[in-house]
Amino acid sequence: MQTQKTHTQKNHTQMFSFEFYPPKTEEGVVGLQTVHSQLAKLKPDFFSVTFGAGGSTRDKTFDTVVDIQSKGIAAAPHLSCVASTKANIRAILNDYRDNGISKIVALRGDIPSGMMSAGEFRYANELVAFIRQETGGHFDIHVAAYPEVHPQAANANDDFKNFKRKVDAGANAAITQYFYNAEAYFYFVDKCEKNGVDIPVVPGIMPITQYAQLFRFSEMCGADIPRWMRKRLEGYGDDREAVQAFGLELVTSLCQRLLDHGAPGLHFYTMNQATPTLAILDNLTL
Ligand code: FAD
Repeated sequence: MQTQKTHTQKNHTQMFSFEFYPPKTEEGVVGLQTVHSQLAKLKPDFFSVTFGAGGSTRDKTFDTVVDIQSKGIAAAPHLSCVASTKANIRAILNDYRDNGISKIVALRGDIPSGMMSAGEFRYANELVAFIRQETGGHFDIHVAAYPEVHPQAANANDDFKNFKRKVDAGANAAITQYFYNAEAYFYFVDKCEKNGVDIPVVPGIMPITQYAQLFRFSEMCGADIPRWMRKRLEGYGDDREAVQAFGLELVTSLCQRLLDHGAPGLHFYTMNQATPTLAILDNLTL
C-alpha cells in the first residue's frame, strides 16, 4: 500500500484556514473578536463559521461571517441542508452573495434529535448541485471528506462514491473530518488520485487540550482515537498541562507529516481558542 504518495495533492497551492462556531452570548462575541485578531495575524486563506443543522444558528452564523469578512480576510459560512427547503437555502445564498461572501462549506448536517427531517435535500451532493444551479460559479464550494469513513456510511467504498458525487456536482475543495491516523488520509488521497478526483483535500486538524470532551465528540463523529493515545491521555488524569503538552507534540507531528507528504494545507477546528492552534503552527516548518 503506497500510502504516502500524494502527487495530485502536491499540485495544489497550500490553503490554511480556521474554523469558529458562532458565539451564543455577548461575552462569546467579544472573546471571538480577540481570537480572530490573534489568528488573523497569520493571514489565513479564510475563516469558516459553523451552522447548526436545521438552521438553529442561522442568524448568528450570518452575523459572525459578515463581521469577519468586514475585517479583511475572507469568511466562509458552513451551510447544512438537512431539514431545509429550497426556498430557505436560496434566501441564505442570496443574503451571502449580497454581502460579498464567495466561499461556502456545503454540508448535509445531522438532524437534531426530536426534529422532523421534512426537507427538500437528503444529501450534501444535492446541496452542491443546488448551489451551482442557483448561483453558477459564484461560490467556491468546500465539502466534507471522511478519511476514516462517515459513521453512517454503508461501507468505505460507498462512502467514497458519495464523496465523489459532491465533487462531480461542483465542489472545488474538501476539508476532512479530523483524524489522528495519518495513514487514513494518505490512503484517501491516493484513492482520489486513482479515481480522477483532483480537488484539494485539506486535512481538518483538532488540537488536543482536554480529553473527556474529545472522546465523546470523536465517538459521535466517527474519528478514531488510537488505543495508545487514549491510554496516554487517560493516564494524565486531571493534569491538564500534561494533556496539553502531549496534545501539542502529537498534533504538531501529525501536521508536519501531512505537509511533508503533500497535504494542500491545514484547516484548524479552533473551538474558538487561538492558543492551541498558534502553538502548533509555531512549531511547524512551513
Ligand atoms: P453527506 O456527504 O451527504 O454524507 C452523509 C452520509 O450519507 C454519508 O454516510 C454518505 O456516505 C451518505 N451519502 C451521501 N450521499 C449519498 C447518496 N446520494 N446516497 C446514499 N448515501 C449517501 N455539521 C453541522 O451541522 N454544521 C456544521 O457547520 C458542520 N461543519 C462541518 C465541517 C466539516 C469540515 C466536517 C467534516 C463536518 C461538518 N459537520 C457540520 C458535520 C456534518 O454535517 C456531518 O458529518 C454529517 O453527518 C454529514 O454531512 P456531509 O455533508 O458529509 O453529508
